Amino acid sequence: MTDKTDKPIAFLDLIAQQKRLGPGLRQRVDAVFDHCHFVMGPEVFELEKRLAEWCGAKECVGVSSGTDALQIVMMAENIGRGDAVFLPAFTYTATAEVPLVLGATPVFVDVDPNTFQIDPQHLRARIRAVRDAGKLTPRAIVGVDLFGQPAPWAELRAIAQEEGLFLLADCAQSFGADLEGKPLGREATATTLSFFPSKPLGGYGDGGAILTDDAERADLYRSLRTHGEGKTRYQVLRTGMNGRLDTIQAAVLLAKLDGFKQELARRDAIAQAYDAGLKDVVQTPVRVPNSKSAWAIYAVLLKDPAERAPLQARLKEKGVPSAIYYPLPLHKQPAYETHHDGAALPVSEDLATRILALPIHPELTDAEVARVIAAVRG
Ligand SMILES: *Cc1c(COP(=O)(O)O)cnc(C)c1O
Repeated sequence: MTDKTDKPIAFLDLIAQQKRLGPGLRQRVDAVFDHCHFVMGPEVFELEKRLAEWCGAKECVGVSSGTDALQIVMMAENIGRGDAVFLPAFTYTATAEVPLVLGATPVFVDVDPNTFQIDPQHLRARIRAVRDAGKLTPRAIVGVDLFGQPAPWAELRAIAQEEGLFLLADCAQSFGADLEGKPLGREATATTLSFFPSKPLGGYGDGGAILTDDAERADLYRSLRTHGEGKTRYQVLRTGMNGRLDTIQAAVLLAKLDGFKQELARRDAIAQAYDAGLKDVVQTPVRVPNSKSAWAIYAVLLKDPAERAPLQARLKEKGVPSAIYYPLPLHKQPAYETHHDGAALPVSEDLATRILALPIHPELTDAEVARVIAAVRG
């Protein structure tokens, strides 16, 4: 069968998504145009309340992006020059960029070869090595819920406590996921979210949020997102940033939250269909026990790195998109190479050569899912 006549499948289909969301989305956005409170309008506070309720967090602070969320949390802890921030080498660049922007040093940790999540044993070794070297002060651990599955939170909490380190959850890819029957969002002292359009809860532009149970920290985050302001606008208490969540994005996200549970269920059904259709030809995603992924990314592992380029080319010919998250572990990126202490991170390096992501957005039809499976099987 030639698939040439078939319409190419989208990796992310925001047009179909808007059609599915229907008039509710436009009504939400029109309401913002009616009241014109484009900065810190009522939708921002409504969204913060809904997100906190979703996971039972006490506080939610809407911010301008997932990256700015990480920065505000680290600024609140005074992380800067001479500090070490431990994070996985196999993640999106933002996780490592923020410590460097603040003058701190990212210390890369290897990941589990099956779940791709940060390896707690290697984390312990890395903390010990930094302490022994005596150059940097260990300050924080950033756990990342890679691809939508939870990081090993119980172990990360234990290590953070033993070592006296701040624990931050980078939940940019996993809002909507569950661990032990509870929604993610309260696994660390602070949790950061991203609403970039391709994330499971994606807006129509940049956006992010910070979740915490700590009221004092939440106040600090609110101050930092608005130039470090105090009780009045013209009282500047600390160096902050312009890090607010846009009202229009909050309106879009409120409309999207209404159907988010169904979207998560659809992503999970697609993942299960891929598992069943592909598990004999590639390594399908190994699940973190007692969890439910938000399926930001469905990534398979090929046996041999040499298979990847031909497979991608064949998929493309059949109108099936694929993507590589991530083609390089962060310690091999030009921007970070010079900040890396040279520790071996073999799992991250190996994964980068063999991983391949397939489309998993909720607009995919069953026929398209079947086409993806058939194309991968060749
Ligand atoms: C997307 C992402 C971020 C950054 O979020 P933005 O909203 O794009 O700034 C941070 N960490 C991880 C793991 C991400 O996937």
